[in-house]
Amino acid sequence: MRPGSPYLYSGRAGSGNGGHSASDAAQRAQFTLALRRAGVMDTRVLAALERVPRPAFVPESLRSHAYEDCALAIGLGQTISAPSVVGMMTQTLALQPEDNVLEIGTGCGYQAAVLACLTRRVTSIERHGPLAATAQQRLAKLGFLNISVRHGDGFLGAPDQAPFDAIMVTAAAPHVPPALTQQLAEGGRLMIPLQVEGQAGEQRAKLLLLRRDGANWHQQVIDQASFVPMLTGLD
Ligand code: SAH
Repeated sequence: MRPGSPYLYSGRAGSGNGGHSASDAAQRAQFTLALRRAGVMDTRVLAALERVPRPAFVPESLRSHAYEDCALAIGLGQTISAPSVVGMMTQTLALQPEDNVLEIGTGCGYQAAVLACLTRRVTSIERHGPLAATAQQRLAKLGFLNISVRHGDGFLGAPDQAPFDAIMVTAAAPHVPPALTQQLAEGGRLMIPLQVEGQAGEQRAKLLLLRRDGANWHQQVIDQASFVPMLTGLD
């Protein structure tokens, strides 16, 4: 998002009072506080999280919870991560304004929007056709012109847009897909939740950060969180 981007969202945050009441302001202040408490300290990332209207990404029935720091199940087996998890994963990628970024698992498009506030271009891949279509329309309506949503299998990445300075996977993967490491630029970072053995359904995963440094790869586990599983093939 560039300063002054045309944000067309005028939906109601909170309880249907027009979206700009004192209680909304208090709710949003709480939101920022919760993010800081959870360790999201990068001011650019905090600003991005404050600017992306999370209510616009969740169904009407859940909008009153949109500024709470919790994951929300939003249909079709899909979950929007807690904002603190989005913030922490984003912060760890140390994004630069000129970065070319790949996201795997568009879902509702919220994480893609946060990434797009901080970088030049985001390609986001979703295996579920209807989710990809809805997210694309939503992001266009909100004025995010630097995001391209694709219906595809994230295990394959997006070779035509590579190399990527940063790649973020938002579903719990069984392993690091080789196509993704191949599509990472020199100095590039890959954030991926890896499934913890022996769990099914909503997966507990360890968040792995991989950094490419010439022929060397540095890896670091930064946290644990729950994600839906990364699946092969298309829906
Ligand atoms: N980043 C999303 C979170 C979505 S949950 C958001 O901000 O809303 C993870 C998503 O990954 C789901 O929508 C799921 O359909 C998708 N997914 C799972 N496996 C995938 C794969 N192989 N390729 C692309 N998307 C995948």
